[in-house]
Amino acid sequence: MNSILTKIQALPKADVHSHLHLAGSQKRFAERYPNANITFPSRYNGLSGMIDFIYGTLNKVMITSEDVTNFMDIAIQSAIDDNVKLLEASVDAGLARFFDNSIDAVIETVQTLKERYNSEIDFKPDLGINKDLALEKVYSDGVKCIKSGVFTGIDLYGQEVGKDLTPFVRLYDMAKDHGLKTKVHIGEFSDHLTIENTIELLNPQELQHGIRAVDSEKTMDMILEKKIRLNICPTSNLSLGAVAHLEHHPVRKLFDHGIKVTINTDDLILFNATITEEYEKLWRSQLFTFEEIELLNSNALTL
Ligand SMILES: [Zn+2]
Repeated sequence: MNSILTKIQALPKADVHSHLHLAGSQKRFAERYPNANITFPSRYNGLSGMIDFIYGTLNKVMITSEDVTNFMDIAIQSAIDDNVKLLEASVDAGLARFFDNSIDAVIETVQTLKERYNSEIDFKPDLGINKDLALEKVYSDGVKCIKSGVFTGIDLYGQEVGKDLTPFVRLYDMAKDHGLKTKVHIGEFSDHLTIENTIELLNPQELQHGIRAVDSEKTMDMILEKKIRLNICPTSNLSLGAVAHLEHHPVRKLFDHGIKVTINTDDLILFNATITEEYEKLWRSQLFTFEEIELLNSNALTL
């Protein structure tokens, strides 16, 4: 192993933008499912191409509640493999469909996983809400999760363009009332105005991606003034075509604007780059020095 990789590997790290059941490494996955025989592409045809791959290929393996639990279990193990000490990963509320529609069973599974690994990693689950989840479920299952005390954050994701977030205002207010950290996916494929709109509506503490803020000084200033952290995933952005070349990734300009940014994996099983590898790529492409990477890393380790 070369010296920069060794140095980065040795750093205690954090991953704060991750979707738990998709966060296992391909190596851990192959060990757990030796007969799955899946070829993971290096690029997906945008968000819809990624969703097609999940439904068409991955979900042929993840069939039962036991599989979902396995997928989440290897995700935590994979984070530990990479010397990740803090893992904030979302658990999709819609996964209840694998557990006979019992959100209680999902909550119990997450609690068991937390306890299983608590001596090795600080696993802080976010409640993950897909914008396409029926609102009725959002306000029944979602609220149960918020009140369970098992989740420490909330995250909202799915299609970004043309989606009205007003129905989620009340949910975010409840999450805040229960002390959950608030995150929202926006500005990966949608423009800087959608970022401003999301901030005004949901007032989140952190944005997942938010990279299109780079197109507007005003939006960047808004993020800076409100001290909103951007949890960015460079390899995911490249694999989905949100960014064409790593050398031109907006993360540098956002960082130079003074915005607090972190580097994360998003979906390790799909994008195949650990936190160590993400940092190494940023260093190799000369976007960040090792000292700056240490700063990015400490940004992520700060709760
Ligand atoms: Zn994400």
